Amino acid sequence: MMLTTLCVKNMYGCIPTPQRVHFHFQADTQKEFFARMLLELYFLLLPSLNILDGITIHEGNGPSSGKPRDMGLLAMSENGLALDYHINNGCAFPYSNPLSKVIKNEYPHYLENNCFPWKQLTDFPLDTIEPPDQYEEETLAFRRGFIKYLYQYFFMSRPRINRSHCTQCGHCINHCPADAIRKNLTINYWRCIRCYCCQELCPSKAIQSRKPLCNLPGR
Ligand code: SF4
Ligand code: SF4
Repeated sequence: MMLTTLCVKNMYGCIPTPQRVHFHFQADTQKEFFARMLLELYFLLLPSLNILDGITIHEGNGPSSGKPRDMGLLAMSENGLALDYHINNGCAFPYSNPLSKVIKNEYPHYLENNCFPWKQLTDFPLDTIEPPDQYEEETLAFRRGFIKYLYQYFFMSRPRINRSHCTQCGHCINHCPADAIRKNLTINYWRCIRCYCCQELCPSKAIQSRKPLCNLPGR
């Protein structure tokens, strides 16, 4: 949902799982809303030092379905917003980063000082990181009542369970924030908010992202 997990989003792990799932559901598909929530949490907990361990990164899809990659990057700052902002800018994804957008628009003073006085980000090969394949930028269609549901149902990528890999452990059913996965492991796509928590949590890599049949041309 946030495209990258760096210092600010990492603080989301401080919330117990049931509440985390609830907040995900509250944010629905609204990425900037979720980004603001993460920033509020960051300021509530306010770490003294942020250490970004990018020695081996994870690119592509969520924690259980992507690929590890040696990057050799270690960065630290007292200012987690600036650290995330600059790293996200260096990634050169084909999408704008929702967290960076909110930081730039609503917390610009956090970006005024150079948080990398000793090394330039251009020294690191950040521009080839592979984005998650199900990522979609937030558009107005994400926000407007019934139109949003139609758009979500007919045009947005959706999680799909591959039965041949599924061990029926039930993790996805128990942790789906929208309660969208039925006991028979079919997904109610009207309820699903496309958070991909199920894909992240599936220990068997049995959940993939699929485009629906009636996708917009060029998407
Ligand atoms: S988490 Fe994965 S393996 Fe477990 S029930 Fe869901 S799809 Fe199947
Ligand atoms: S089915 Fe998966 S993507 Fe959809 S709401 Fe549940 S956890 Fe999120």
